[in-house]
Amino acid sequence: MDTIQVLDKTFVPYLSEEQILDRIKILASEISADYENLNPLFIGILNGSFIFAADLYKHISIPSSISFIKLVSYKGTSSSGTVITAIGLEENINDRHIIIIEDIVDTGKTLSTFLPTLHKQSPASIKICTLLQKPDALQHVLDTHYVGFEIPDKFVVGYGLDYDGMGRNSKNIYQLSTADEY
Ligand code: 5GP
Repeated sequence: MDTIQVLDKTFVPYLSEEQILDRIKILASEISADYENLNPLFIGILNGSFIFAADLYKHISIPSSISFIKLVSYKGTSSSGTVITAIGLEENINDRHIIIIEDIVDTGKTLSTFLPTLHKQSPASIKICTLLQKPDALQHVLDTHYVGFEIPDKFVVGYGLDYDGMGRNSKNIYQLSTADEY
């Protein structure tokens, strides 16, 4: 694997497509075993998770469904702080077993802010499946149940993850070159 250039930054190879797919197959078989007969609903968080969600879902072997949402954050009142709402969730999630598919959990702010909104709709359960997690960056209370790779607190692109909208189409995952860190 060679280094890649995305806009003004250089990225070095970090995880190959093969490593990613091998790990995804393991995650998919764990989830399929855990949710047998529960007919779970996978919810992919756009945009970053679209490639991960597709590859993961191809390897899920139990009856289930999948849907995608986009999270939009805005400033609420001073008492509510930042509010995150979902665009595109049409399914009734009452009594459903939900598995959130996320590309990366960094500070944990996005999901920890959004989960209470989902809980209000009384799902049977909610678990999070994230391809990447940066344990050193976590600042919010968040349980991630299925984690593909724990990675250092460095910016990554590829396999659906972008830098300023670009780089999502790289098959491998790349890490920002030390020379370009600021
Ligand atoms: P959190 O709310 O957990 O801090 O951030 C989650 C979101 O930040 C991710 O869904 C992703 O959009 C973005 N993010 C965090 N770290 C990275 C990274 O290293 N690379 C990219 N491309 N996005 C990141």
